[in-house]
Amino acid sequence: MIEGSPKPSVETGEKHAETLASIRDLRGDLHMHSLASQEANDDRGTYTVEELASYIRDHVGIKEGDQPGVEYISITDHATDDKAIPHGPEEAVDRRILAQKAEIDRLNESGKFPGLTIQAGIETALTPTGNPDVSDHVLEQLDVVITSIHEPPDLPGDKRVEMYRRVVENPYVDILGHPFGATWWGENFDWLSDEQAREVIDLAKAHDKAIEINAAQLDYYSPAIMQAIADSEVKVSFGTDTHDDPKIKVNEPLGTSGWRPYVKTAELMKEFGIRKDNILNTYPLAEYQAWRQARIEKFTTATE
Ligand SMILES: [Zn+2]
Ligand SMILES: [Zn+2]
Repeated sequence: MIEGSPKPSVETGEKHAETLASIRDLRGDLHMHSLASQEANDDRGTYTVEELASYIRDHVGIKEGDQPGVEYISITDHATDDKAIPHGPEEAVDRRILAQKAEIDRLNESGKFPGLTIQAGIETALTPTGNPDVSDHVLEQLDVVITSIHEPPDLPGDKRVEMYRRVVENPYVDILGHPFGATWWGENFDWLSDEQAREVIDLAKAHDKAIEINAAQLDYYSPAIMQAIADSEVKVSFGTDTHDDPKIKVNEPLGTSGWRPYVKTAELMKEFGIRKDNILNTYPLAEYQAWRQARIEKFTTATE
């Protein structure tokens, strides 16, 4: 069970009180998309990075002490696998990602968002060769690197495990995004069996990568998988995978739609006893960055 959670002062009934306690422990969202990920023919509203940060500041709240709130958000747009994103030559993709990082640096330095840090990240696509679709020299400069399968390759499950086996060797990848399956536009993709999922969890643990608990894809986290995650003590990353308006709305009354993914995910993590110190989102920002940096150093010195 999650320990050391402060007792909430709000009277919301026992079930909600328990959940609130863990929500207070979460300091940020490690998976959010901005306008740069807007898909063709997608009429959902999307936000620029500045609009996302303003929304968080004005409607969610910046974390102070043990009050619920957000200390950081992570912009993890797709790199090349989104319909609206020009696939273009690699240099063009690199330039676009680094331009967004420069924009994020400017916003962080602007003083518009005191107490809130915007992390520059990316959600790379895991290619059948087991590589992210962005070059290492770009990934190295970012704060959060997720790698995810989006179009399940026409490969048997054990070959898909091989993709993960290769990508965990990449020093700059932090998080395996929704690794077990996902639903896109009403179509279900369940790309690993529970047994293969266990292999991927073990690979992540051995290489100090986090397994994402994706709030938008909770159906793919079976009890067996959740138990394996908890038992393995692998690091876990919580992401809303926001594609339209930000999904964290901690100051909204419980029960409204904004709460649901956050509450459900927190409840799930508690139910299976995922330890707080294995949940990256409970780390203060500096600790998260130190975790990423230490792993990169371990990887790069080992291969020198
Ligand atoms: Zn994704
Ligand atoms: Zn995503």
